[in-house]
Amino acid sequence: MAHHTALIGKRVPVLEKGWIELQDMMGDDLAIVNAARVSYLGESKGTGPDKKLLFYLLRNRHTTPFEQVEFKFRVRAPVLVWWQWARHRTWSFNAQSGRYTPFQENDFYFPTEWRRQAQSDRQMSEGRTAEEEGAELSAALADHYERSFALYQAALQKGVARELARIFLPGFSLFYTWVAKTDAHNLMHFMNLRMGSHAQEEIRAYAKAIYTEFFCPALPWTAVAFERYVLAKHKTA
Ligand SMILES: Cc1cc2nc3c(=O)[nH]c(=O)nc-3n(C[C@H](O)[C@H](O)[C@H](O)COP(=O)(O)OP(=O)(O)OC[C@H]3O[C@@H](n4cnc5c(N)ncnc54)[C@H](O)[C@@H]3O)c2cc1C
Repeated sequence: MAHHTALIGKRVPVLEKGWIELQDMMGDDLAIVNAARVSYLGESKGTGPDKKLLFYLLRNRHTTPFEQVEFKFRVRAPVLVWWQWARHRTWSFNAQSGRYTPFQENDFYFPTEWRRQAQSDRQMSEGRTAEEEGAELSAALADHYERSFALYQAALQKGVARELARIFLPGFSLFYTWVAKTDAHNLMHFMNLRMGSHAQEEIRAYAKAIYTEFFCPALPWTAVAFERYVLAKHKTA
């Protein structure tokens, strides 16, 4: 039941120049079932009973068998996404360093639309600016990036260290690359929070890409159980 081998190396574009790639993976739905059955030294009992057991485990929050499946991603996203993602302590990360690698002129995030501040909620956005207003904001942003990058380069040329010269760059907007590893249990926790309507649209795009492009095809039974017992419950809560 090795669904995942074809997925390793698959890269999916997210946001205007970001992406997410599955670098490696260990385990499948059956690995979860077999981990649970080690309790009584048993193994697979065929598709019907195996699937039923997996649904039972998720429904009743027997979470550790889901930790037997691991996902390792390589992600390219703006720092504002990194900052939110890195709060998930159950992941292991390694990230690009602006101390080693100079930033490039095209490393900045340009949103395709300008969301307005929500009136009903202090952290969320709702609706979009008018097209003309959006075009003005995008032009101002391009100008801002250009000037920041020129200041950054001028500092580097004066011999300022990369670790300090980068303070000229707009920090939240820079595209960053990192490697992130977690297990299926903690990945479901991440997706539940970060696909939710309260999460910022940019990180939602990555969480949704993980779900549809990697999680569902790699763990089809777990994905259905997750929809049924976690996502559906969350929506109605
Ligand atoms: C919509 C949204 C808005 C947010 N707004 C803010 C904000 O304004 N300010 C802010 O600072 N953060 C904010 N966060 C981040 C949030 O507080 C969490 O840090 C983040 O979602 C990671 O969740 P987590 O701790 O459950 O996940 P993980 O760190 O992956 O941990 C998973 C689970 O492991 C357990 N765990 C891990 N570490 C510990 C520990 N040290 N002690 C006890 N249990 C532990 C907990 O049960 C936890 O739920 C926001 C998150 C979301 C989704």
